[in-house]
Amino acid sequence: MADCIKCPKCSSTDCGKIIYGFPPYWLFERAEAGEIKLGGCVILDDSPDHFCRNCGYEWKEGSHDD
Ligand SMILES: [Zn+2]
Repeated sequence: MADCIKCPKCSSTDCGKIIYGFPPYWLFERAEAGEIKLGGCVILDDSPDHFCRNCGYEWKEGSHDD
């Protein structure tokens, strides 16, 4: 895992990514395992892309790589 994410709320590093769009099969499996979360097909500008397994908080990382 290249990215090290920390929950802004509880500082837990037990976080996962929220994946948008239509997920391939392996993503379903990872979502089942609680590794990632599926956000659906619609992504908004301020849609959260990370979630915390510890407190359930969802947030958007300030990544502007465009
Ligand atoms: Zn948290």
